[in-house]
Amino acid sequence: MAVGTHPESVVIVGAGQGGYQTAASLRERGYPGRITLIGAEDTLPYERPPLSKAYLKGPEHLTADEHLWLRPAEYYARQSIDLVTGVVTDIDPAARRVRLADGSGYDYGHLVLATGARPRTLDVPGAGLRGVHTLRSARDAAALRASLAAARGAVVVGAGFIGLEFAAAARESGREVTVVEALDRPLARVVSARTAEHFTRLHRREGTRLLFGQGVAALHGDGRGHVAAVELADGRRLPADLVLIGVGVTPRTGLAAAAGLPVSGGITVDSQLLTADPHISAIGDCAVFPEARSGDRLRLESVQNAVGHAQLVAERLTGTPRAYDELPWFWSDQFSTTVQIAGLGHGHDTEVVLGDDPDAFSVLLFRGEELRAVESVNRPADHLAARRLLGRGVGPRPEEAAAPGFTLKAHLARHREGPVAPVG
Ligand SMILES: Cc1cc2nc3c(=O)[nH]c(=O)nc-3n(C[C@H](O)[C@H](O)[C@H](O)COP(=O)(O)OP(=O)(O)OC[C@H]3O[C@@H](n4cnc5c(N)ncnc54)[C@H](O)[C@@H]3O)c2cc1C
Repeated sequence: MAVGTHPESVVIVGAGQGGYQTAASLRERGYPGRITLIGAEDTLPYERPPLSKAYLKGPEHLTADEHLWLRPAEYYARQSIDLVTGVVTDIDPAARRVRLADGSGYDYGHLVLATGARPRTLDVPGAGLRGVHTLRSARDAAALRASLAAARGAVVVGAGFIGLEFAAAARESGREVTVVEALDRPLARVVSARTAEHFTRLHRREGTRLLFGQGVAALHGDGRGHVAAVELADGRRLPADLVLIGVGVTPRTGLAAAAGLPVSGGITVDSQLLTADPHISAIGDCAVFPEARSGDRLRLESVQNAVGHAQLVAERLTGTPRAYDELPWFWSDQFSTTVQIAGLGHGHDTEVVLGDDPDAFSVLLFRGEELRAVESVNRPADHLAARRLLGRGVGPRPEEAAAPGFTLKAHLARHREGPVAPVG
């Protein structure tokens, strides 16, 4: 029997999106052994996307933790998944055992690290004042929502997805919001200039103040330990009784590194999501893996990535190993806009835009002749077609896409029987 398949027991560290899905997929595939799902948070596994969206808009949208839970408590009992609340402090790879902060320990046949990531903070004076938030957990979101209810003016540092989603929710709750971004546009690392420009226009139209090319020098208090202003690098001061720091995350790799596993911008895994130790896998936000299409080593932060990784590990552990080759996709909701991204557009050299409605269009991103990614703004049908086309490797060439009357749906219909994309 191959190493890394059919273990007697599986211990999963991290009961978030990826950890939960690993346990659920193992049972769906008939895995008969013991499953222990260990999570540091004192709640059932839940989904994070609503935390920066509907959850913030107030009680009429999502009131209780239960609304976020991936499954109710009975599910875990029914599926014989042992849910343990606790912090894993170390792994002993030789003994195949993890230890928790309370002194307890669990032996494993296979260990899955699904430890996620922690939000970065700002290294400036005043970063520890009350009213200064980061957003990763349900607890963070509850604190942020309470702050928002009492806030007059909010400043968001960082125009990434989480910062902009919060800004949209805060504007919809009638708050003054300023977003401060060090680069010259929002979402610079994740979307094309065309799509970024749409979000700039959308936020300005809805009353969000956006300041680009600005760093933060310090946060100032009100004399009672609560934030009162943000000082920009150019010396300007923005009054703020709520500050959200949305400057990205750091993968949680400490356990893996201390156990001697290679770590480089995330826990290093191979195409089957195995670490250097064949009895330990790593998945989701904490894992750096080889992307099948480009060969680039990637760390992605998305629900789809965590779920896809989890399903692959469950397949391997139940005897069907394969290389991870799923097409990445992602979404974000802000005001009346949903952006959906299929594929990875970094390094593209040509853009073709479909649709002439400034609030509903798709941007096709090509590297050379090859379609690499499609960003769809309020065009869900394009997104679905793009996922199929990119998944099969039968995207249009730039000149085909630029021809009058071109649609992704019609192109898909012509290539329905096309070959499956070569991977690797
Ligand atoms: C506010 C917010 C909005 C988002 N919106 C979207 C969206 O719209 N679309 C999208 O695709 N993605 C979105 N994401 C990203 C998505 O939620 C993550 O990519 C996904 O949750 C990653 O799953 P994971 O299992 O890798 O990590 P997580 O879900 O973060 O789970 C990791 C868990 O491990 C626990 N843990 C860590 N170390 C230990 C330890 N030593 N012992 C025990 N437990 C430990 C942590 O406490 C945590 O509960 C959003 C994320 C956030 C925070």
